[in-house]
Amino acid sequence: MKIQLPFTVKMIIEKLESKGYDAYAVGGCVRDTVMGKCPSDWDICTSALPCETLDVLKKDNIIKNGIKHGTVTVRFDGQNYEITTFRTDGSYLDNRRPSNVTFVSSLREDLSRRDFTINAMAYNDRDGLTDYFSGAADIEKKLVRCVGEPDKRFNEDALRILRALRFSSVLGFDIDKKTSEAIHKNAELLKNISFERIMSEFVKILMGKNVESVLLGYSDVISVFIPEIIPMIGFEQKNPHHVYDVWTHTVKTVAAVKNEKTLRLAALLHDFGKPQKFTVDENGVGHFKGHPKVSAEMAKNILTRLKADNKTKNDTVKLIELHDVRISPEPKYVRRLAAKIGEELYPSLIELKRADSLAQNPDMRSQKLEYADKLQRIFNEEVSRGAVFSMKSLALNGNDIINLGITDGVEIGKCLKYLYTLVINGEAENTKQALTEKLRDIKKD
Ligand code: ATP
Ligand code: MG
Repeated sequence: MKIQLPFTVKMIIEKLESKGYDAYAVGGCVRDTVMGKCPSDWDICTSALPCETLDVLKKDNIIKNGIKHGTVTVRFDGQNYEITTFRTDGSYLDNRRPSNVTFVSSLREDLSRRDFTINAMAYNDRDGLTDYFSGAADIEKKLVRCVGEPDKRFNEDALRILRALRFSSVLGFDIDKKTSEAIHKNAELLKNISFERIMSEFVKILMGKNVESVLLGYSDVISVFIPEIIPMIGFEQKNPHHVYDVWTHTVKTVAAVKNEKTLRLAALLHDFGKPQKFTVDENGVGHFKGHPKVSAEMAKNILTRLKADNKTKNDTVKLIELHDVRISPEPKYVRRLAAKIGEELYPSLIELKRADSLAQNPDMRSQKLEYADKLQRIFNEEVSRGAVFSMKSLALNGNDIINLGITDGVEIGKCLKYLYTLVINGEAENTKQALTEKLRDIKKD
């Protein structure tokens, strides 16, 4: 098999080889090229020790970080290339980190410490593809399979449990039976992994095309770090709008929404408050009054625990709070809703509502989708006619108001709010002249 290596990778490998060392492209980049995809970054492994790698590449633009883990980073044409010395990991502590790493001279040993067969292939032009663990065959079979004994590999490093789910979700691969059994068996070990590392993998799982089967098939794993899902699993909704239990509906909403981080998180967390808010009326029909607010509070706690950044957290919470609003599809109400959620987030809210409908009873779907389309269309029309959704876009600002003779800060604030409400409600045009007149009117009164 011939892989077209990028110029820089080829150059680094050839320089190392010319000094008698072995060097290969390795890991994700080989997996991606074997799959016919363009890798986002290229990692290189070599028999040269870090100081020897530095020596060989000394004229190049070298960043000396991570040298103690055996990694030298070379920056070239704005891109980083990581060159790591062949190594094995020593014994593992706390299911998450090796106590020490040992440099070794054989590629085989280096590949055998790697997590999955599809990630344990190496390539250079001299030797072609090195694939001791049948990674290429597993790519063909669309299978995530541990290198070595799965139970042992997950005990060494529990993050691999989420990495397996991530590759399954992103690549659309199944997980090999033995690997899958070991994932279920060892899921609790994730308690030893920091929430930052969990979150980073979990977001990738959520973004994958195979997210539905991963979340449904491995809810026991997800519940280790988000135990709030446990009451949702199998929770029947007893409502004609729904055909799935709360967890299945949730997962289907995630799969139906665009794969954008905030949207996928909002879809995941939008109904978490349902089990708490469940009531059954005299006809035996289930209701969840007030669940968006409870879900939003729970989402805030969960995202704080998982160390989401503030923007992601705030946007997600806002979307959840408003996911169930039912406004009359008229410009005035659309403007109010857009003002409430913010112009930037409004399309995401509609996208979330659309996905939520897609995950409900198919018999009632088309009218809900039409409604979502209408809310988006009206918003688009409002945007193109220059409608205002935030106080900042008012045609009159604080200085203009001062120039009209109102100098008290509190009064200025009140005026702005008053004008903003008029504009949102369609009772005034957003022009300097119209707004000035409105202020003159109240001054007269
Ligand atoms: P991506 O496309 O996301 O970069 P990747 O496979 O390159 O995927 P990285 O996290 O960049 O993933 O890791 C590079 C390589 O290092 C992997 O392909 C794998 O061979 C190895 N590796 C990474 N993390 C682990 C781990 N926790 N245990 C064992 N091997 C690992
Ligand atoms: Mg990588």
